[in-house]
Amino acid sequence: MRGCTACPLYANRKQTVFGVGDERADWLFVGEGPGAEEDARGEPFVGQAGKLLDNMLAAIGIKRGNDVYIANVVKCRPPGNRVPEASEAARCEPFLTRQIALIQPKMIIALGKTAASNLLGTEASVGSLRGRLHDFHGTALLVTYHPAYLLRNLPDKAKAWEDLCLARDTMQRLKSAQAAPK
Ligand code: URA
Repeated sequence: MRGCTACPLYANRKQTVFGVGDERADWLFVGEGPGAEEDARGEPFVGQAGKLLDNMLAAIGIKRGNDVYIANVVKCRPPGNRVPEASEAARCEPFLTRQIALIQPKMIIALGKTAASNLLGTEASVGSLRGRLHDFHGTALLVTYHPAYLLRNLPDKAKAWEDLCLARDTMQRLKSAQAAPK
């Protein structure tokens, strides 16, 4: 992926930002695309939004690198942190699809509208998609607010907390269903 020139985002990147974490994780969190700090460091969610994401992970008892993988819809930084164009996301999609196929997470958490719309193929708002389980080709998927949005919209943190509780309970259910004798 490092040499990818499939969309115009390659022109301004310092480096590609593939993803980070446990490659056998039960949890996969998907954001939008790298920002300036991520572009500089080559790791997703290392800026302010990343700190909040780490707190969100802690709320459901997980820690970066341990049973969680973090990736983005696009792997190169959109200039000025703009939302990736649909054509850019489409060009990058095979990488995320392959990541999901290899990791085989039990649950995907789509962080924000870009992740939700690209994974679910809908233009619906986060507000209308959150709070219930979706299906991504047989894998449970939940939508919640992007941490960068939550930093600007503090009242919605309570809703994100509800989403994380639903995520945690669903994961417990999925794990005990798997452990139950057939
Ligand atoms: N926002 C994202 O969606 N992804 C990152 O990696 C950082 C900020």
